[in-house]
Amino acid sequence: MWKFVSSNVRADFKEFPADVAILDEYDEFDMSHIALMPDRLEASTYKFIRGASNPTVPEFGIHERFINGTQHEMYYLCRTCEKYRELDFFKCVAEPITDEKGTVIDYRLREGVEETDEFVCEKCGTALDRTAWRWHPKNNQAPYSSYHISKLLFRDASPLELWRQFQNARKKGESDVERFYNSVLGLPYESPGSQLTAEILEGLALVKLMPEKISEGHCTMGVDVGSHFDVRISKSVNDIRVAMYIGRVKTVDELLDLTKRYRVSTCVIDALPEARIAKEFQKKAKCDVWLCEFKNQEGDTAKTLTRDEVDYIVRTDRTYALDCATSDIIERRNAFPVGVRDLLKGFFLKSMLANKRVLQTNAKGQKVYRWTKATNDHQRFADVYDKIATMLRGGMAVDAGEPEEGEKRDEEEGVLARGSRRNRNRKFLNEDDGSEKGKTGGLRRLFD
Ligand SMILES: [Zn+2]
Repeated sequence: MWKFVSSNVRADFKEFPADVAILDEYDEFDMSHIALMPDRLEASTYKFIRGASNPTVPEFGIHERFINGTQHEMYYLCRTCEKYRELDFFKCVAEPITDEKGTVIDYRLREGVEETDEFVCEKCGTALDRTAWRWHPKNNQAPYSSYHISKLLFRDASPLELWRQFQNARKKGESDVERFYNSVLGLPYESPGSQLTAEILEGLALVKLMPEKISEGHCTMGVDVGSHFDVRISKSVNDIRVAMYIGRVKTVDELLDLTKRYRVSTCVIDALPEARIAKEFQKKAKCDVWLCEFKNQEGDTAKTLTRDEVDYIVRTDRTYALDCATSDIIERRNAFPVGVRDLLKGFFLKSMLANKRVLQTNAKGQKVYRWTKATNDHQRFADVYDKIATMLRGGMAVDAGEPEEGEKRDEEEGVLARGSRRNRNRKFLNEDDGSEKGKTGGLRRLFD
C-alpha cells in the first residue's frame, strides 16, 4: 500500500507503519516532522529510506545525507590522458581565476569548450568521451549509497548553454547563482557572505561631483521612508548606475522638486511604514511612482518582481532585492561620488554596510540565506529601491535588453568601451587623463 503524506502536516507522520519511505525534495521538508519518520519504520524488517532533492546549503538536508553516503560521482573518459575525469562543472567547463591570495575573482570558459561544445579534460583540454562513463565512489566505506545527479548528466547537456546560464546568474546576483548551483549543478551553495566593505564602496567612488540638476536624459530614483526620506537618484550610463544625487529630505514637496531637477522617469518608494505619505507622493509626482512591498518571507521564495499595474505596486522578496543591488556593487555596476566616507557625515557608509547576509533557520527548520535587519539601513534601501526602479524600467543592468532612448545618447557619445567590467571601470578612472579626449565628453559632463 502507498501512503502519500505532506511534510507540512505533523499528524500525517503519526500512527502508520511502513517498510519503505521515499522522501522527495528533502530540503523543502518541515524538519521537525521528518524527525518522526524513523518511528514509522520501527516495526519493519526492511526500513528502506530513499531521499532525493535539490540541495540547498552545505552539510544540511540532502547534502548531509550525500556526504555521509558513498558520494558517487560521474566520470567520463579522456582518451588522450587515458584517464577517467570527474564530471565537475568547475573542472570541465568553467575555470576559476584566482588572485594572489587564492580567492576566486572570476571565471573563464575552459579552452576547447567554445569550439566543441563538449566537456573537456581539466589536464589536457581534450573533449571527454560521453559514451565511456562510470560512477565512482569517493567514500567507499559508507554505510549506504549516495549519488550526485546534475544537469551535466543529461544526454543532450550543452556545456556552452550551461556556461551561458552561469554567466547570466552571476550577472543577476547571489539569489540566481544560488539557484544555479542548487538546481543545475545539484550542488549546495555557500554564500561568500556578500558582505560589503568600505574598501569595495571606495573603489566605486568614481563620480567627482554630483550635479544640482540634469538637462538631458532621465534618471531613476529610490526613496526609503523613515523619519526622513532617504533618496538615491541615478542615471544609467551603459550598464552602470551612476549616482546623481544621494541625500535626505524632509517633505513630499522636496521629493517632488528632486523628481523635476533630475528628470526622474521611474521612482520606487517604500510602501511602509507610511503608506499614506507614499501614496500622496505617488499622486502628485509627474513620473511613474511604484510603491514597494516585500512579500512574506516564510516559504515564499519567489525570486522575481511582480507588479500591480493598476495601483502601481511592486512586490518582491527582500533577500532577492538586496542580492540584486549587492550584485551591482560587486560587479562594479554602481558608481558613487568620491569621498563616500564623509557622505552625509558618515551615515551613508554606515548605512550601506549595515546589513549582513547570513544563514538562518526558518520556522520549518530549513536553512535559508537572509539579510539581517538594521535600524540605520535607510540609504542602503534607497539604493535597493533605485535598483528596483531600473529593473522596472527594463534597465539594462537586469536583462541587458535594448537601451532606452535616454541611454542611447550616452552610448553614441562613446562614454565607456564595451568589454570586461574591469576595463570599463578603468576607462572611468582614467577619463580625465586627456587620452580619451572627445570620446568621453558625455561622461565628463556627468561628472564635472
Ligand atoms: Zn586529458
